[in-house]
Amino acid sequence: MDGGPAAAACAVDHGSLFRLMPMAAVLEADGRFAAIGPTLAKVLGGAGPGGGFLEAFEVTQPAGLAGTESLAPLTSGRLWLRLRGRAEAVFRARIVPLATGGYLANLGFGAALAEALRRHALTVGDFAVTDHALDLIFLSEAREALTGELLAMTARMRGRRDVAETLALTDPLTGLANRRAFMAALDRAVQAAGRGQPFALLLVDLDRFKAVNDSFGHAAGDAVIAAAAAALRAETRGADLTARLGGDEFAAILRNVAQAEEAARVARRIIRAIERPVDWRGERLCVSASIGIARAPDALHGRPDQLLAAADAALYAAKNAGRGRPAEAP
Ligand code: GH3
Ligand code: MG
Repeated sequence: MDGGPAAAACAVDHGSLFRLMPMAAVLEADGRFAAIGPTLAKVLGGAGPGGGFLEAFEVTQPAGLAGTESLAPLTSGRLWLRLRGRAEAVFRARIVPLATGGYLANLGFGAALAEALRRHALTVGDFAVTDHALDLIFLSEAREALTGELLAMTARMRGRRDVAETLALTDPLTGLANRRAFMAALDRAVQAAGRGQPFALLLVDLDRFKAVNDSFGHAAGDAVIAAAAAALRAETRGADLTARLGGDEFAAILRNVAQAEEAARVARRIIRAIERPVDWRGERLCVSASIGIARAPDALHGRPDQLLAAADAALYAAKNAGRGRPAEAP
């Protein structure tokens, strides 16, 4: 032997070969694996040398070669293969006969690269440096990073918007709806009443509340307001709306309460709950409350502002009648 080109070709060892073509395999003449490139080995999972190439892969294109059981007919051109039993994993492949007998098969991922990266946990190191797939990997990683960042940013902005919306509609001292949220809810409730869903509107004002502030200070007054809000919430249902309109004035929209007696009963319950003494820094703070009631639908008070004025007039009447009681709008 003179060490010419043929000898050099024979001298290509598997290590060098697979460094250039990590998705290649050297096959025996009968189709068994003689050696498998490292990336192809990852794709194959368990199947190692000894098993047959056509036991691991089946030909999908050209269709005429699909059932072929030997490798010789597969060496004429480009092939599409898939892992047996795995419809989704499609590879491009070329198989060439070797002068020494046997075959050399080389595979590529084609369009399914991104999915293959995930499925087989492949990284840049699994590809030959000359492989165009590398560029696609960088692009795909950059896109994933960007998409992730955009999603996180959108979630942060949505979170901040939700917080801002909640703050804009909530009374900070009591956590009840504020006047703005109440007016919007009253509008909707009046419209729903026009479609046959009745409700009762309660306006609640603490009695002689200024005396608490004057005797015990503003912080004590705040504690009484917070306790009254808790009482209002406790004595109404989840579907009802409870709001602090400002100062010592509250409101409730009692859904599906049509009867005067039922509205008055809830109002008396609320008053009793508000009358429970509030323990505050060793003091027992006591207030009562008056409640004005208006019900919808109502032929006389068809608009939200009219209904509110009617409930306000009833509240005034309850105060005049001696406080600590409900009164219904005429
Ligand atoms: P009435 O029985 O006629 O309702 O008498 P009242 O003393 O309760 O008088 P009114 O409802 O007119 O006054 C409510 C007072 O509530 C006036 C104001 O000083 C006080 N106030 C308003 N907002 C707050 C608050 O956020 N905290 C405290 N502690 N007091 C408040
Ligand atoms: Mg008051």
